[in-house]
Amino acid sequence: MSTITKDIVEHEAPDLFIGGEWKAPHSGRMIASIDPSTEKVWAHVAEADETDVDRAVGAARAALRGPWTQKVTASQRGAMLSKLAELLRRDAKALAMLESRDNGKPLRETLGEVQRAADWLTFFAGAADKINGDQIPFRPDALAYTRREPVGVVGAILPWNSPVSLYSWKLGPALAAGNTVVLKPAEQTPVSALALGKLIEEAGFPAGVVNIVPGFGPVAGAALVAHPGVDKISFTGEHRTAQEIMRGASVNLKRCSFECGGKSPHILFADADLDKALVVATHGAFRSTGQSCSLGSRLFAQRSIYDVVVERMAERARRIRVGMPLDANTHIGPQSSAEQLAKTNAYIALGKEQGARLVAGGGRPAGLERGYFVEPTVFADVDNRSRLAQEEVFGPVLAIIPFETEEEVIALANDVPYGLVAGLWTQDIGRAHRVAARIDAGLVSINTYRPVHWMLPYGGYKMSGLGRENGLAALDEYTEIKTVVVELATNSPADPFAD
Ligand code: ADP
Ligand code: MG
Repeated sequence: MSTITKDIVEHEAPDLFIGGEWKAPHSGRMIASIDPSTEKVWAHVAEADETDVDRAVGAARAALRGPWTQKVTASQRGAMLSKLAELLRRDAKALAMLESRDNGKPLRETLGEVQRAADWLTFFAGAADKINGDQIPFRPDALAYTRREPVGVVGAILPWNSPVSLYSWKLGPALAAGNTVVLKPAEQTPVSALALGKLIEEAGFPAGVVNIVPGFGPVAGAALVAHPGVDKISFTGEHRTAQEIMRGASVNLKRCSFECGGKSPHILFADADLDKALVVATHGAFRSTGQSCSLGSRLFAQRSIYDVVVERMAERARRIRVGMPLDANTHIGPQSSAEQLAKTNAYIALGKEQGARLVAGGGRPAGLERGYFVEPTVFADVDNRSRLAQEEVFGPVLAIIPFETEEEVIALANDVPYGLVAGLWTQDIGRAHRVAARIDAGLVSINTYRPVHWMLPYGGYKMSGLGRENGLAALDEYTEIKTVVVELATNSPADPFAD
């Protein structure tokens, strides 16, 4: 175990990370974090209130005026991000262990997530000194150019489902572009953010460039949104929270980027390579115990293959090993909180009530009496207008829906308030591109599913979000464009008021 794990586990309650220092919380309060596989409190961390958030924003503003923008070069920012990526790789095991305890995801998944977080930072490290403005041929006797400047202080508000990887989605582009950050992790999973704070310190970022303030949404989160010293909010979470943030952020017209939920269609045409498609569809529907915004939670199967798809998906769902997060054999762990388990169970009950046919799961897995566990669950014959098909469950619950024609499935796929991801399987290239063009989603994959990657822009249509993360497109969300025009002509300007 590296020192970060020891610090977090052995010393009660790590402090807040503000202005490059570890500070006791103003209120003296602690957040008790629960291990969802045992339902027991396993760690305490400091809880930030409005006063702490105000201090963190102050530190971030001071850093923005200081060496970070005045002395540190773009290449040096990149080097610091590279260093941070290297430290994440060094401590991947310890970080993954913390995350598995805090969030309940199996170690094999959290380990992959930490490594991918490092890859994300590496991509943006390389981008830091390639954020160029343009020279514009405005007129021959003028020089016109744009500068891409940091937006300023970024408030990053994160959810509990994939903490470490999402921190890298925000920190990578924000820091590459020269912003400073106040990061508020979710109250359910506050531990790994502070461990990351230790690595940020070690990576050599100037004090105040990144500040970390665990706290509750309506207190610390709302304080960040309301603070006039924050220029932008980058949020991942529920669309209802995003709506509230948008209202709050109107105080100083904060820039907002949101990544919210989804109810993504995964479409199997009759000519799909079913062996491949069903492997991918199973992972797409049940990965992370269903706690992913990009889940392929509505599986559309064309009528002639529908019965086979239902039978095989049910069988595949039953084979998924639900178990303890630290067990190397575990495929999926518990839900991350009692609240999420209750929500998932409520949707399973609703599916039964509303007449869907339960073909796999639906209960608590055998042999797991404690912990927020639920079986991978498959419903067939689901009505696309029913709540089970319209609302995001955020649990391992798949709705299978039959369709007849291409036209019909496009209409069904789009008939939800969300539009984050879509997948479709067919051998017909004309149909593949026709359907891809007509689906309302920020990411459409053909004969694969959800290729989320640092190089690929990612974000939602409709209620799934605002703006894009990942890829070079993410940098647009973290920069302001300033246009500068210089007169080059030697003659006197025309005087419109000369007469
Ligand atoms: P989830 O249901 O997935 O936890 P939420 O949208 O509730 O999604 O939470 C995501 C993040 O938003 C968390 O960090 C949470 O503390 C924060 N949050 C919740 N309510 C607010 C709010 N009113 N203002 C700012 N942040 C909030
Ligand atoms: Mg927890």
